[in-house]
Amino acid sequence: NSSLSPAHGAEGGLNARHWLSKIHALAFDRPVKIMNVCGGHERAITHAGLRGALPAWLELVPGPGCPVCICPEEDIYQAIQLALQDKVILLAYGDMLRVPVNVAKGEVRSLIEAQAAGADVRPIASPIEARKIALDNPGRPVVFFAAGFETTTAPLAAMLAEMKLPSPASGGGGPNNLSILLSGRLTWPAVAMLLHSGRPGFDALIAPGHVSAVMGPEEWQFVVDQHNIPAAVAGFTPESLLAAFYSVLRQLESGERFLDNCYREVVMPGGNPTGRRLMAATLDVVDANWRGIGVIPASGYALKPAFARYDARKRYPDHSAPGRRRAGEMPPGCDCAEVVLGRRYPNQCRLYGRACTPRHPVGPCMVSDEGACRIWWAGGVEA
Ligand code: SF4
Repeated sequence: NSSLSPAHGAEGGLNARHWLSKIHALAFDRPVKIMNVCGGHERAITHAGLRGALPAWLELVPGPGCPVCICPEEDIYQAIQLALQDKVILLAYGDMLRVPVNVAKGEVRSLIEAQAAGADVRPIASPIEARKIALDNPGRPVVFFAAGFETTTAPLAAMLAEMKLPSPASGGGGPNNLSILLSGRLTWPAVAMLLHSGRPGFDALIAPGHVSAVMGPEEWQFVVDQHNIPAAVAGFTPESLLAAFYSVLRQLESGERFLDNCYREVVMPGGNPTGRRLMAATLDVVDANWRGIGVIPASGYALKPAFARYDARKRYPDHSAPGRRRAGEMPPGCDCAEVVLGRRYPNQCRLYGRACTPRHPVGPCMVSDEGACRIWWAGGVEA
């Protein structure tokens, strides 16, 4: 069955207790691992204490669901270097400001340190703010460091479309003082990479709710069709997550396979057509580096050539080259890459809760609200 099934998603109104009792009624005589690929899912699972409420044979594995955690060090380094330039206003989503890069002692190691050193670094919540700040500061270069998955890349595409292509007649478009340091990523290629690696580390997949709302749940059909692995899209309530867990467990038990949608109130077939159209019009899909993991084919976004004048890498090439040399850098001892790939739980990192805490983070997974290490630490998971 390769179509979206209403079998379990239609029951989404049932409460958490109902789904828990159904899951406990299942009898697996082997460990079963379900991976999620959304930091929001991991946060909801941990904060609701779902792991403690589920049977011992069921493991919930946090996967590649944190865009800040996989943002390559060279991109963050480049953002810091640009922030330190005279007159530049550097904008970034708030989570990114405290992510440290691995530089020599005495060098600026994060955007927040750049800010403390006098750089004009401003956290923003949406691309609309970036455009407004650029319009309000016409005499200053404004660089928007846009790191994120499809959910944050879609509004960026909408902003780019508004900035429009340059018109030779009017010199139009703009604002011309705004450029984008884009570090956008697609989620499904990371899961595809895991599945092709020969050691995926999970028996079933919970597909991300917000990404599916934008791109359409069909993006995850390959998990079922090509790998015979059950998958279900989930929302962010315990009820929706438990319904999705039950769906994939029933599939494992019965041998049936389909992509379930347990977030039907938000996730529609085809996703958000306007968002997808704008992304296709403004961005190309390119091979991209994931921090500590390496290059994953067709997993990143780049501005289309028609938008080159808004591309910070092209506009400021001198600050790109040193960053490119840093590709692959990770803080010593940090297991973020293994955590992101679900091959190690956060508290299996020897720095977790010792050298690495939210107050003194070593790696990005302890910085971001969507990072598994930070979520587990905030949820009281011991080292
Ligand atoms: Fe990296 Fe800290 Fe997580 Fe270890 S605990 S993987 S050092 S973020």
